[in-house]
Amino acid sequence: MYYRFGYQGSEKDNEITGEGNTYTTFFRELDVRTCRWWGIDPKTSATPWESPYVSMGDNPVWYKDIVGDRIWSGKASAEKESDSKEEKERKDKNNQIANEGEKSLLKSLSEKTGLNLHFNDKGLLEYDQNSNGSPLINGGSEAARNDLISGIDDKSFDFTINWVSNDMNVNGGKAPLRDKSANSGWMKLDISDFSPSDNKTFDIGMAFFHEFNHGYFGIDDPAKSEYTVYGPPDMNNPATIIHQGNVGEVEMRVNIYRSQLGLPIRISYNGTRDEKGNSIMPFKNNKGNILWLKGFVD
Ligand SMILES: [Zn+2]
Repeated sequence: MYYRFGYQGSEKDNEITGEGNTYTTFFRELDVRTCRWWGIDPKTSATPWESPYVSMGDNPVWYKDIVGDRIWSGKASAEKESDSKEEKERKDKNNQIANEGEKSLLKSLSEKTGLNLHFNDKGLLEYDQNSNGSPLINGGSEAARNDLISGIDDKSFDFTINWVSNDMNVNGGKAPLRDKSANSGWMKLDISDFSPSDNKTFDIGMAFFHEFNHGYFGIDDPAKSEYTVYGPPDMNNPATIIHQGNVGEVEMRVNIYRSQLGLPIRISYNGTRDEKGNSIMPFKNNKGNILWLKGFVD
């Protein structure tokens, strides 16, 4: 997370700089390498700081008649006869990425919240309800469920998911921190699911929740002074690279979901890289073992 809402198009840059900061360095690379794959934000006016790749001014806005549209999935506009071959291919690719993302996100979020979730034909995230309007629930974390329901039900706040794909075999996400006055937000979410199927502690659903907590609740990661970057990492000696300090408000909250689900919890905001250069983060399971999981949330 680098910037806040509400600065009339000029981003307030909270970026942490410095050699060896894997978060910052990694995400800058990710941005540069994947910007052509960013899903098209249908509400470009709400995100004036976005790159031109995202602000495609000639694209008609999808579903612009929807007011108070809560959490929804961004897609490229429908193809037009006049589109060039390249433009058609770009839209196809973006929508394919969005469709894949929707599928894996629904699966993970449904497991985590116990809700039966789907995107309706307008792209809005919805949950199945009983005849009295209460949510249909099947297990999951109560804290995660309550947070997601409050976002879905909140008609005063729009939240757009911009889908991303990259060729780096990593997952990740990014979102601005919500300002008090903001009534819309967005996240960028990578569709690559880096987690093995038996590991749900740091997958696309948890990446969603990390970004959602920034964008909806306006809570932050730790300040630079609150975590330490060590390096070069000695993978045989985790004590040299793990700062078991403040994970930040966002991950404290996501850790509550994890503990309710019996999943390993994140023990540091700080991560490092494995021998292949993948960004990895430390977690601890209920036996006290440290697990390094591949992926990235910003
Ligand atoms: Zn974050």
